[in-house]
Amino acid sequence: MTLHPQPFVPDGTSSVVGMKTVQSKKMWEPVTQPGHISDRIERQIVELLAAEQLRPGDRLPSERQLAILLGVSRPSLREAVKSLEAHGRLDVRHGQGVFVAVPQSQTNLRAALLAQKVTLAELFAMREVLEVPAAGWAASATDHHALSAAREALEELDVAESASPVDFKDLQRLDSAFHMHVVMAAGNRFLRQTLGVLQDMMASGMETTLVIPGRLERSRIEHAAILTALTERNERKARAAASRHIRNARTAALRRIEDERRRTEE
Ligand SMILES: [Zn+2]
Repeated sequence: MTLHPQPFVPDGTSSVVGMKTVQSKKMWEPVTQPGHISDRIERQIVELLAAEQLRPGDRLPSERQLAILLGVSRPSLREAVKSLEAHGRLDVRHGQGVFVAVPQSQTNLRAALLAQKVTLAELFAMREVLEVPAAGWAASATDHHALSAAREALEELDVAESASPVDFKDLQRLDSAFHMHVVMAAGNRFLRQTLGVLQDMMASGMETTLVIPGRLERSRIEHAAILTALTERNERKARAAASRHIRNARTAALRRIEDERRRTEE
């Protein structure tokens, strides 16, 4: 990116332009060089933004007012504004005015958070589609081996949840293992494979929702309710417990992203 791509625009504040000779060129350079004048005006604008406490999205005074405020000519002001726009500090919206730009990293972050929110909503919707019926099938199935494997996975998860400090990566793995065992107890290989892919995507794309304050305790109760329903072979209760667990995890995950998004606007 070139700092000052515009040709030199005579500036009203530098009446020495006409006096410039080959010998005096060096001497007068600091004043007559467009870059330096523009730099100075840019600095003045940045200082003005700070002094006026203007924030991203705020509108600057009109070009005419700004030129008076800064004591510079409008062409050189325009040049400085162009340069600040190129550097992502200002946002020139034609017909509307000049605004303090929203930092690019902030824009990117916001876009990434929105994409993540959509992905998470889709992933949780799929979990609900697959795991709720799976819990019902698991309750009505007679696969004692799969059921005791689910119980063992939950016991392991309980131990990890009580550890200090808690290893959240480990929790994510064990939580996923518990849900996989429930699906295995449902006795449908295609369902198992599909959920396996889904769990992998969740594990790679997000931090476990168990890091969210209060979520760990709630999750423990929800997992226990799923296991109890399976042990009682109560299909209806198993479906309800699985649905509650997935919905609560989804709410927690989406709320966390929403909070992050709000922080980018502060
Ligand atoms: Zn879980």
